[in-house]
Amino acid sequence: MSLLVVGSIAFDAVKTPFGERERMLGGSAVHFSLAASFFGDVRVAGPVGEDFGEDELGVLHERGVNTDDIERVAGGKTFFWRGRYEFDLNTAHTEDTQLGVFGDFEPKLSPESRQAETLFLANIQPDLQREVREQCDGARLAGLDSMNLWIETARDSLVRTIGGVDIAFMNDAEIRQLTEEPNLVQAARAVMSMGPRVVVAKQGEYGASLFTADGFFSLPAYPLETVRDPTGAGDSFAGGFLGYLASEGPEAAGDPGVLRRAMTYGSVLASYNVEDFGTERVRALSRDEIEGRFAEFRSMTSLDTIPAG
Ligand code: AMP
Repeated sequence: MSLLVVGSIAFDAVKTPFGERERMLGGSAVHFSLAASFFGDVRVAGPVGEDFGEDELGVLHERGVNTDDIERVAGGKTFFWRGRYEFDLNTAHTEDTQLGVFGDFEPKLSPESRQAETLFLANIQPDLQREVREQCDGARLAGLDSMNLWIETARDSLVRTIGGVDIAFMNDAEIRQLTEEPNLVQAARAVMSMGPRVVVAKQGEYGASLFTADGFFSLPAYPLETVRDPTGAGDSFAGGFLGYLASEGPEAAGDPGVLRRAMTYGSVLASYNVEDFGTERVRALSRDEIEGRFAEFRSMTSLDTIPAG
């Protein structure tokens, strides 16, 4: 499989009711690529500044992620995000966003990256997402994530970008905000009418729902007793989902059973992500732990395990 992700590569400052970190490796593309790396080869593309060091690259290399398309900009500063969460961990409150090297980033992908079969446009300015989509004209399956900031400041561009992908992953509140449609089913249909054939609504601690033209599937989140930091959960979800899908071949996205398993792998990776700060849990994860939690999801959600009454 060949899977490329483009999105933010960042330093994050995060405060939750359970602790804080002043500067840790983060970014949508980082969380995505670590999660997807359990399923096959992943390439990550995007700019970083001079402050991005070998330690940060090492986290990606340890998981086998190809970083050849990470561009280090001389004199530049890496994207920085500061956020905080109240006791409702579903809502991140952004306190600061410094685009740094993303401010004048012009994607120039290597031939290897342009040939990726599967592409994920992780959260970043939608004009950049579209430029990348256009460069990867051979990609047979493309997904995208976005956020309220871009709905509010670059809506038209975001709608055009959504028109060029097969799968849209967004928070339920953002799907409603984008479509100005309060009913989630109708809002998902409205996103599908923009282009994608699959819409995944992420619902934080309540799980995720998948909409296609003729189907619906929903999973709860894994019932964790310890949640320390939800940052990156959405990207880890998308990484587990698309990583698995890419490993099955891009055309498998039309198979309802494969899509359900992809939803489950997404939920598994997201659940591990939130157990600790930033990338700390996912970078130490094993495939056995992933399969173990996948099996728990199977028994937790199956009516077949109820004894006939
Ligand atoms: P999520 O999966 O939604 O929790 O995404 C968390 C990641 O998104 C953090 O690691 C941030 O670095 C990154 N992020 C926050 N704001 C932005 C933004 N405006 N553009 C791109 N990435 C962002």
